[in-house]
Parts: sequence; C-alpha cells; structure tokens
Amino acid sequence: MVQKAQCMARCLWSMGLSLLFGLLLPVLISAHQVIRHELHVVLQPDHHTLQVTDSITLPETLRPSDAERQYFALHTGLSPLPLTPGVQLVHQPTATLPVPGDSRTSAGGSRLLLERYAVILPAGTRTFALQYQGAIRHASLQQGPQDAWSVPEVSGMLATEGVYLSGATYWYPRFDDELVTFTLDAQLPRTWEVVSQGERTRHARVNEATYVRWESPAVQEDIYLVGGPLTEYRQPAGPVQAMVFLRTPDALLAQKYLDATAQYLQLYNALLGLYPYPKFALVENSWESGYGMPSFTLLGSKVIRLPFIVSSSYPHEILHNWWGNGVFVDVQQGNWCEGLTAYLADHLLQEQRGSAVAYRRATLQRYTDYVSTYSEIPLTAFRTRHSAATAAIGYGKALMFFHMLRQQVGDDAFIRALQAFYRDNLFQRANFDALHRAFASVTGEDMSEVFQQWVTRPGAPELRLSAATVQPDGQGYSLSAVLNQVQPGPAYRLQVPLAVSLQGQEQAWQTTVTMAEKRLEFTLHLPAQPWRVDVDPEFDFFRRLHREEIPPALTQLFGADKVLLLLPAATIAELKQGYRQLAQAWPQAASQALEIRWDQEIEALPTDRAIWLLGWENRFLPEVTTALTPYGVGLTPEGVHFEGAPLTRAQHAVVLTVRHPKNPQQTLAWVATQNVAALPGLGRKLPHYGTYSFLGFAGDEPVNIVKGQWSVLASPMSVLLAPAAGNPPQEAAAQLAPRRPLISLP
Ligand SMILES: [Zn+2]
Repeated sequence: MVQKAQCMARCLWSMGLSLLFGLLLPVLISAHQVIRHELHVVLQPDHHTLQVTDSITLPETLRPSDAERQYFALHTGLSPLPLTPGVQLVHQPTATLPVPGDSRTSAGGSRLLLERYAVILPAGTRTFALQYQGAIRHASLQQGPQDAWSVPEVSGMLATEGVYLSGATYWYPRFDDELVTFTLDAQLPRTWEVVSQGERTRHARVNEATYVRWESPAVQEDIYLVGGPLTEYRQPAGPVQAMVFLRTPDALLAQKYLDATAQYLQLYNALLGLYPYPKFALVENSWESGYGMPSFTLLGSKVIRLPFIVSSSYPHEILHNWWGNGVFVDVQQGNWCEGLTAYLADHLLQEQRGSAVAYRRATLQRYTDYVSTYSEIPLTAFRTRHSAATAAIGYGKALMFFHMLRQQVGDDAFIRALQAFYRDNLFQRANFDALHRAFASVTGEDMSEVFQQWVTRPGAPELRLSAATVQPDGQGYSLSAVLNQVQPGPAYRLQVPLAVSLQGQEQAWQTTVTMAEKRLEFTLHLPAQPWRVDVDPEFDFFRRLHREEIPPALTQLFGADKVLLLLPAATIAELKQGYRQLAQAWPQAASQALEIRWDQEIEALPTDRAIWLLGWENRFLPEVTTALTPYGVGLTPEGVHFEGAPLTRAQHAVVLTVRHPKNPQQTLAWVATQNVAALPGLGRKLPHYGTYSFLGFAGDEPVNIVKGQWSVLASPMSVLLAPAAGNPPQEAAAQLAPRRPLISLP
C-alpha cells in the first residue's frame, strides 16, 4: 500500500538589496518615502549598453534642509551628469556590495561595483534630471557548485539573448530602500519586447526599433526591465490583461497560460480581494528561473514546458502579487510571504485534490529530516531560502502556522483577517505584527501567545501518547491517556486533535484537547467501545514527527549529518566510472559529512549514519531486499514492481529507500541503473524528490515515471487498545469527517 505526495513548488520571490545599502550612505530618505522616476532608456544589447535619462522627483515629505543634499548609488561605469541647471553631482569614494544570490548559491567571489554620488540641489528644488550611459554585462550565470535547493539569481544582464535589470542591478539611482513610482519609456531592437511593472501604455514599431512605455502609478520597491527577442500573446481576463511572452512561438502553450491566468486571478480575487495590477504576464527567461515579480513572473524555458507547472508553480507566482509583491515584506522582521503563499497556493491546490494531509505530512517530514536543533531559527529570522533547512522553516513551518491560525479561528474569520491584512497593507511593507493586528481585530481575540510561540520562538513541539486505558462507565466507555510534550524548553499551548475508532462504527469519534502544560492527562467519554486512538491523524499542528511516523524517504539522506556512499566494485568499467563521477558531484548540504567508498572496502554496513548504495551489483543489495519485505515489494535480479508499474534492470533507473535493518533510526537508499547516460541527470533530479520513498526513471534525461511513499507501518501517535471479548479484530482506522477546501476552483 502506497501513499502519494507532491513536491513543493520551487520559487524565488525576488528581494532587493535594501538592507546592505542603508549601512553605506547617510540616510535622509526613509523606507516609507516614495521617489518618482521618469525613465527614458535606449537598449543596445549588441554592445551590452544602455543610455538613460531619468527625471527624479523627491518626496514632498522631505524636510527642506534634507532636500538640498541627497546621496544615491548607481551601477559602476554609468557616468551620470545632471541635466537640470543649478544641480551638482559629487562623486563619493567607491564601495562594493555582494552580488545578491552569491552567498546563497555558493558561487562566491563576484561583487557588484557601485558608485556613490551626492546630489546638491538648489533650494526648493525637488525634481531634477540625470543622464547616464554605459555597459551592464555581468551575467554570472554559471552557478558553480550548486546548492540543489536554491534558485540561481543574477544581479543583472544586458546581452543579445535578453535583458534583466532590477533594483539589485542599480541601473537607476537608488537613494536607500525607498519606495518608487515610475514611467519607463524604452527603445529596443525591432524584434524585442520588454516587460516592467504596471501597465503598457505604448507599443510601436518604427523602422528598426520598437518603442514601449510601461507605467506604474502604484508604489513599488524596485524597477524591473526584463525582456529580449520575444513573441507576445494576450487576452483579457476580466479587467486585467493576461499576457505571455515566449522565446519560441508556441500559441498552444501561450493559450494554456492565458487561460490559467484568468482562472487563478478569479480564484484569488474571490478569496482575498481584487488583484492589484492592470496586467499579469508570463515571461520566458533566457536562463532557468522561478521568479515572481509584481504583475509578472519570469520562468525558465524548461520550467514553463513541464506539464504540471501551470497548476503548481504558476498559481504560486500569481499569488505573490497579493503576498510579497502587493503587500511588501518588511524583511528585517521576517519574511512571512513565502509561508502564506505556499499555504494559499501549494497547500490549497492539494486540498482541492483531496491530498492536503499527505502534503502537510511531507511538510513536517522535511522539517523533521532537515532541521536539526542547531539549525532552528524563528520565523522572524527567515529572509529567503538558501538551504533545505531554511526552506523547511520559511516555507514549511510558516505554512503550518497559517494552517493552525485557520484551525483556531475558523475558515470564515481566517479569510476575513487575510482580506483585512491585504486591504490595510497593500503597497506598503508589512511584518508579522501587522498580520497579528489583522487577526486580532477580525476575531476580537487576544492572539499574542499564538504569534509569540510560533513566530518568535525557534523549534517545534514533540509529543508522545502513553498510558491509554479503557473502562466501562454508565452509558458507554471512558478512555484515559497521557500526552507529554518532550521537546526541550517550555510547553507550547496546543490544540491537539484526537480520533477514536469505535467498535462497529465506520466514522471516527473526533475531538480536540487543549494542552497548556508539558503533561496532560485526559479522559474521553465514548458511546461505544474504543479500539484505537490516533493523535493528530491529519497533521494539523506544527511538530517534529517521530521517525516511525515518517516513511523512509530521500530527505533522511539529504538531511543527515553523516552519510556514507558505497560504489559497486563488481560492475563493468563504464558504469564504475559513471557512478564515481556521480558520487563526486553528489548533491549535499554544506554541513553534511559525506564519505565515498567502494563496497568491497567495508565488511558490514555501519549503523550510525545514512547510507547510499549504488548499483545493481552492490554487494549490500541483499540488505535492501530484506528490508523491503514489510512493504510487500519484491526485488529480483530482473527488476522491481511499484504500484503495479514494472521497472526493469535493463530499461529503468530505480531509486528506493528502506530503514536500516540493524538501526531503524537510519535510512538506506539504493540507486541503480544500467544506463550510464542517465547518471548525471539522476544526481541533479534526486534532491527535488526528497519526500519520496521510491522512484522510477526512464531514458537518458532521465524522466520520472513512478514515485511514491511507503505507508507508515507503526506510529507512536496511534495506540491500539485491547479488543472486547467476542469482537472481531479490525484493521483500518475509522474514517475521519470530510473537510472542505478553503475555496474551490472556479
Ligand atoms: Zn514563493
């Protein structure tokens, strides 16, 4: 019996460099002030150059004395000159800033050179114009030794394949982490299209050039200029223009995304309040990315052609226009937007498909496997994902936090609180305190403790159920048991769901007990004799899972501190070479100690670490075969069957995980193929299938054809009670009450 689960969508919500910049210059313009830019840009991709005039209007709210001298930074080599009479620019000593993303992708080393200027204005002047030009060519797209869990990010590029400019490129003057409004007129090569935020109000082809104007009267954090040789498709989605820009014309593909745009805008308009921009565009990128920008998304060529993206990552990126790109993130106090977006996109879509329980279990599984007590951080310390552990907190723990809020206040109040949060904070930077205020005002409840224990406290509760006994009482039966919180530190206040299976009843008897101390003794009065009790059977609150609640899966190997990888010495030379190369490029976290050995060099499998076994000829394969027995799967020299799908030694790559036969706390994984060409692709792909117990792949790429999780055989959160005399033993737990998704797809 096998249970399926889905991978979590991968996304990089784009974030500027505001934190770094504030340290370098005297700050006169604060984070909530708004500067207006009127930009005229000529792009010359052949030469990697741009020419810009920018008319800048400083905020009205500036004190008169501050308005006379301001400081800004600009990408190096752009040589700005003032066009407004009486305005002076004074070049300041140079400074360097790290290129965003480098610290995360471990490519390291490259730095973005900025130049700083003081601008001195005549008294009473708030608007002035600058002209500048130069080259922007550092693409730094080589990802180096890639962390498989992060998305590559570049600080800017301008080349024949395309343009990517953002606030992090400093392609326009940035004073601090101010907000902006803008108009952007661009002159491009004739075959090009460019996209920015807001609405396109001009599009013309004259002779050898294309002229485009984008306007964003809505306040923004960045100014993007993104595009290249693209083919445009569009259709109205209510009052919003749905647009698709592809590098290779493909009307069918475009239509799929245009229709999906309308569908998801309708869904989120109904759930949260109206979409805040006049258009939404899908832009095909020249490198593989998953960026969500305000009113558009920038996705790689491979990604947009994967069939499941249109109903997984795509709605996630659309929803970022409410969370992150509509209500901005006050990132110094924690990035709440990924968890909320994951909950209302990835989790909601699973709810609509009836697989939310498996999704939440996989979320808790990733936290349990990837986050050690040393790598725990509170949600207020999460900025962006740069490892499996930070993703398990910033996406996983955060989405469970929103799930718990919903359980506590009910669907109706949950939706109204999110609508209030959106309405009150649109186009402003908001933090967890603003979320707290929205929930407290809608419900009228004091929610300080809930926010405090989940948002500012690192870690997770861990529960044990024990001492379950049953007594007949007057009308029925009493079930008594003890729950203990065994995590270090103080107790969490928890609402613990319980499901009791009663003799002769198909529906479970369900309740919730409140646990405020580390020990809770409780008694339930039941109408019939109970034979089984399950604690939190639908994974409704955030907690560290027991090893036995989690099926063996790849996360336990990718998340392990100590790992041994055993190569098959007895295979043919070509495969030996292929496996060795795979091992040398093995995906691993920076903190992981990985040892690579030939299988013949060791006598027995060690019991103190996770182990990868490579190859059909691996001499320890019999250990895997034995450990597979409880799952009802037989492994023969010819192949293996999963869910009725035959995987053969000759044609497929097989990956499966089992508990270590001598230590169930450890996991073994076996990876085997006869096809050398499939090995590099396997190494790249496996980290993306972390929560699966078994996988099958075909071809050289290789393409995934089977995936799934083993069922859980014995959970310490479930207790079987002594059966009543004369009653037949029962097998499956009683059914739980059906649940409705937060909202259904239109
Ligand atoms: Zn995201």
